[in-house]
Formats: sequence, C-alpha cells, structure tokens
Amino acid sequence: MDCIFCKIINKEIPNYTVYEDENVLAFLDIFPCALGHTVVIPKKHFETPLEMSVDEYKNYSVGVQAALQKVNSTLKPAGFNVGWNQNKVAGQAVSHLHTHIIPRFEGDGGGSMHSIIKNQGEKTVQEVYELFKN
Ligand code: AMP
Ligand code: ZN
Repeated sequence: MDCIFCKIINKEIPNYTVYEDENVLAFLDIFPCALGHTVVIPKKHFETPLEMSVDEYKNYSVGVQAALQKVNSTLKPAGFNVGWNQNKVAGQAVSHLHTHIIPRFEGDGGGSMHSIIKNQGEKTVQEVYELFKN
C-alpha cells in the first residue's frame, strides 16, 4: 500500500520522533499549525478508529496519552487541541489514522474545535435525539 505514514513506520521516510512504544509512533508534523504540532499514528495501518478492535483502540489511546504527556512536559504549553480529521469530507488528507496534538499558547491567535464548522443542519437537537432511540 502506498501510504506515507506506513513508510515512516517502515523507516523508508525519516521523521522527528517525539514518542514511540510498541503500538504507536508520535512525530512532529512537517507543516505545523503550532509550535510542537505532533501527530500520533498506530503502527498498524487503519484509516479510522472504526476499523479497530476495542483492544487496538485502547492501546492506541494509551499511546496518544503518553505522547500528550511528552509534548506537555517538554514544551509546557498553556493548553491543547487534540483530535483527528476522519474521512475526506472532514479534511483527512493522509488515509492512515493520526491524532493531531496541537499545543496552544497564550495569544497564539487560534480558535477552538467550534471553529471547524458552524452549520447545525436542518434538524433540531430534539429531532436528532429521536434518531438515537432504538
Ligand atoms: P490530515 O489533514 O489530518 O490528514 O493531516 C495530515 C498531516 O500530516 C498534515 O498536518 C501534514 O502536514 C502531515 N504530514 C504529511 N506528511 C508528513 C511527513 N512526512 N512527516 C510529518 N508530517 C507529515
Ligand atoms: Zn498506513
């Protein structure tokens, strides 16, 4: 498979490693949105968490937290935005799951998760809730 992040795992492409364990690799994003912008990838190729088993997702989450701790203790930012873009419609450019760890600093000019989209759709919250029943 022609996957740039699998090539990083296989050491065919270099990276700036921040944290690594048996299940994940965390490295600096080469086009950072913020100082210390890091991506955390599972060593096994998955496009999204929906394809992972519960144990695979748990192991991945443990790795994401460890990477977060490493970035936090090293750079001591004032906060973070953490998450992933899932599928093309949501901005996923690399089809190998990666959680973005974006450190935030006072006065950095960034926004919150709420700045990703402002379009509540054509249903009320109550109507959406009805879809979850049964
Ligand atoms: P996304 O839009 O969520 O798929 O994000 C993909 C991210 O991967 C972008 O922020 C890119 O800057 C980053 N990226 C792509 N290639 C590399 C690479 N070789 N090393 C580090 N980061 C990369
Ligand atoms: Zn891959």
